[in-house]
Amino acid sequence: MEKQLEDLKQQLEKQCFINQELQRQNKDLEQRLQDKEKLLQQLQSQYHDLEFPSQSGNEAEPEVRKSRAAVIAPEPIPETLELKRARVKKTVSETSLIVKAIQKNDFLSRLDDEQIAMMVDLLMTSTFKPGEEVIKEGTEGDSMYIVADGELTVTQAGRELRTLCRGDIFGELAILYNCKRTATVKARTPVHLWSMERQTYRTIITNKSKKKREQLMGFLKTSRTLKDLSDVQLSKIIDSMEEVKYQDKDVIVREGTEGDTFYIILKGEVLVTKNVNGLQKKIRRMGKGEHFGEQALIREILRTATCTADGPVTCFSIDKEVFEETIPVEHLELFDDSKVMQEEQVPEKTSPTTTIKLKDLVPALYQEGRYQGEPVTLGVGGFGRVQLMTTENHGKFYAMKRVSKKNVVAKRQEEHVLFEKRILKSIQSDFIVRLYATFKDTRYIYMVMEFCGGGEIWTKLKEVGRFDESIAVFCTACVVEAYAYLHKKNIMYRDLKPENLMLDARGYIKLVDFGFAKEMVRGEKTYSFVGTPEYMAPEIIKNQGHDFAVDFWSLGILIFELLVGSPPFSSSEPQKIYAKILDGVLKYPPYLNEAAKSIISKLCRPRPGQRLGNTKNGIKDVRHHRWFGSMNWHKLRMGQLDAPTVRLVRKGPCYINFDRFPQDHTKAEEEFSGWDREF
Ligand code: ATP
Ligand code: MG
Repeated sequence: MEKQLEDLKQQLEKQCFINQELQRQNKDLEQRLQDKEKLLQQLQSQYHDLEFPSQSGNEAEPEVRKSRAAVIAPEPIPETLELKRARVKKTVSETSLIVKAIQKNDFLSRLDDEQIAMMVDLLMTSTFKPGEEVIKEGTEGDSMYIVADGELTVTQAGRELRTLCRGDIFGELAILYNCKRTATVKARTPVHLWSMERQTYRTIITNKSKKKREQLMGFLKTSRTLKDLSDVQLSKIIDSMEEVKYQDKDVIVREGTEGDTFYIILKGEVLVTKNVNGLQKKIRRMGKGEHFGEQALIREILRTATCTADGPVTCFSIDKEVFEETIPVEHLELFDDSKVMQEEQVPEKTSPTTTIKLKDLVPALYQEGRYQGEPVTLGVGGFGRVQLMTTENHGKFYAMKRVSKKNVVAKRQEEHVLFEKRILKSIQSDFIVRLYATFKDTRYIYMVMEFCGGGEIWTKLKEVGRFDESIAVFCTACVVEAYAYLHKKNIMYRDLKPENLMLDARGYIKLVDFGFAKEMVRGEKTYSFVGTPEYMAPEIIKNQGHDFAVDFWSLGILIFELLVGSPPFSSSEPQKIYAKILDGVLKYPPYLNEAAKSIISKLCRPRPGQRLGNTKNGIKDVRHHRWFGSMNWHKLRMGQLDAPTVRLVRKGPCYINFDRFPQDHTKAEEEFSGWDREF
């Protein structure tokens, strides 16, 4: 008995020991598991930083504004251009060198084949002696170059960066706009270059794009199904169509299968055959400008013949589904809010236009801090400075934009400043900053605007990293309202970005900066290169002609940036941004929900005609998207919604929501050419 007891005791002790050991191991495992989890979290956040780098970093130096690359200034393109020199014929090996060079270039390789072919055709030759400078850092660029022979050295601020040799491309951004050169390129050996000027390239591409549209219009008009549509509608269809390429013998449509696509032949020939007793009988051959499959657009139908590519073929095509989305586009029907707009126009606030005089305005001053006693500057933009002004009796605050006339003339921006003034003056929307009065003197023009005391959305976004859904939805909804108003007046905005969204004291959003806005006839296209790189739509970069659809593209980019903290296509080098935009691959961070991803990808569709907001229901489709599920649009328009953004607005001195800027002691030069008569 005792022995048994002893045995049991021993067994129990053993069991206890095993238990302890197991517990210890368990703890060990748990610890390791926790360590692993920590590591995983770390890795995830590192991955996230890599994929979606935050651009914050303002906190330490609130005065330094790390705004994104400056907005690109549009310049007029001559309607016709006489080529100064005869075109240079290229040998087969020269053409091959040029094409290879273009293909390995990030940005140029993404242009259409036609544009590349034209580029090859337009290149001129030039030679440089050793030591000669081809481009100089800091100057405005007007040409791009391909090295045909020889070596060149690239330097930046005197530091040697790299050597360029045969087949390398440099300065390519200059074919898009008058960018500043970021480096100097000098010949090291005797050098032979292929070069092309922007004005030549843009004029020719623009004319080509215009001709191509006209030609496509002509082709569409020969279709029985489409011939009664208006030009505006046909233009919309073209915007929705896509280019498809086929190789020799590819079957494009097969007899007896379900058809849902309509094709126009742009290049090459197509063989039409029919099955007769098991044999393929040739019916006919079709060529450029002819189309097939039009029945598929209007009814469910089985293909009645087979169409096969005879040699390489390029078609322009549209699917039934897309077609139905695209028309009928009665352009008045694009907007569902005609009544709402009327309501909006009735309670016009009495604008103090007549009462404000320049002499009544005095600068508001910083009340503390290192600029105490100096005038308050709210922002500094590409063209001027915006100052906080108040009336003698300190009743009201105004934001006054002051623009140097000399600067405007130097940058050939007269038209845009006049547009900004005219457009803003004609606008009465609660989602757009009011312009109360304009003045001028010999050096400056002045625009006295409503003061948006809540500051820029850009600053707020940088402070918090990214916005939660409710704030992003609210901000975007305000922009949608501003767009509805502008587009109804046939005005495109073209410069959407967080820097141009201001908060008022209630947290409502207002669009500012109408320098790039433009009034446009529906169905027409414009060909200027304008916008901020990260927000530019692909059709602008490709010079295909653009219209209101670019505003919907930028809306998608804005939603992304508000939710993520940085835009989807970004890089420190603009040509990389353009390459990414042309690729159009949107990478979403894991925390974005389905609705957000859906609205962004629908707004950022590469074909303008397929973009949400630009299809047959117009802006209504944007408002009805499920991402805005909780939005009460009527209350928003009436200003009866509590803005979630109000928590971003700081309370304190009237300039508390703005960065601080030192006083500007310089005086602009006088300017007397008289372009500013209207002010
Ligand atoms: P850019 O073309 O480079 O964007 P710009 O010279 O056209 O600049 P704006 O963008 O109109 O100038 O204004 C510059 C900055 O001034 C804005 O980003 C904003 O911070 C501030 N600002 C502009 N308008 C107002 C306003 N109505 N109320 C308060 N601040 C304003
Ligand atoms: Mg601006």
